[in-house]
Amino acid sequence: MKTREVELVVGPREPHYVGDGFRVHNFIPSAYRLDMQRMNPVIMMDYNSKFNFPPSVRPKGVGVHPHRGFETVTIAYKGKIEHHDSSGGGGIIGEGDVQWMTAAGGVLHKEFHESEWSKKGGEFQMVQLWINLPAKDKMSKPKYQSIANDKINRFNLADDKGEIEIIAGEYQGIKGSATTFTPLHLFNAKLKEGGLATFSFPTNFNTALLVIEGNVVVNGENKVPTDNFVLMANDGETFTVSADEDSIVLVLSGEPIDEPIAAHGPFVMNTRAEIAQAFEDFNHGKFGFLED
Ligand code: MN
Repeated sequence: MKTREVELVVGPREPHYVGDGFRVHNFIPSAYRLDMQRMNPVIMMDYNSKFNFPPSVRPKGVGVHPHRGFETVTIAYKGKIEHHDSSGGGGIIGEGDVQWMTAAGGVLHKEFHESEWSKKGGEFQMVQLWINLPAKDKMSKPKYQSIANDKINRFNLADDKGEIEIIAGEYQGIKGSATTFTPLHLFNAKLKEGGLATFSFPTNFNTALLVIEGNVVVNGENKVPTDNFVLMANDGETFTVSADEDSIVLVLSGEPIDEPIAAHGPFVMNTRAEIAQAFEDFNHGKFGFLED
């Protein structure tokens, strides 16, 4: 199979705060060549690189806000996050856990550091992705998947060189734990020093990597340090990731949704009229109710 080459390697941008609890580097859509269409169906990536939050009696985070038209996927690497939404979904995710919230037709939610964790503070690291929904599913019923780390299916690399956590999609015949609306692969590749994993996705699937820990080499020649993002080209299927030291790499690859994107703030629809409708529905309380 043809090799998929590296298109772009980008370091973390200047961080900004989402609420007061998430100190994030935005890679999608703000980085060069990474607009919402380029990595579609992954239309947003915020990365809270390792950051030490001091103890706080009042949990830091982001208060009640709406979403419509897509899914939010939160992956905790360090620290704990507590979430509640107006459809009744919610829970606590800790190290290695994943929260998959389908906002679809509309939810209100809030996202905070978990209260006990907040009192102690400490190292915090997480990724939030927004996954687009096809037009036919944008107004479907909200749902919530809470995926504890021990429920994530794994593929063990030969010679004890690490494992691939399959959050969604499929790797080496092993299916992921989350259900998705369109074809999407989402893995944590946990490679030990000297470990190598091969990935293969259809050429048209938009594909990227984020190095969470360690240092890796893509296709045997592109060195990528911690906190860097790699956009893979759509010129082939197969690529390799090898680890110079114990490393964690978030691997994303999805079939593009071939539809227009109209985005404004917390709403991602297909047309400006649908965005205006979302604001109107929100202002008329049609996203339900959630206590502050
Ligand atoms: Mn949110």
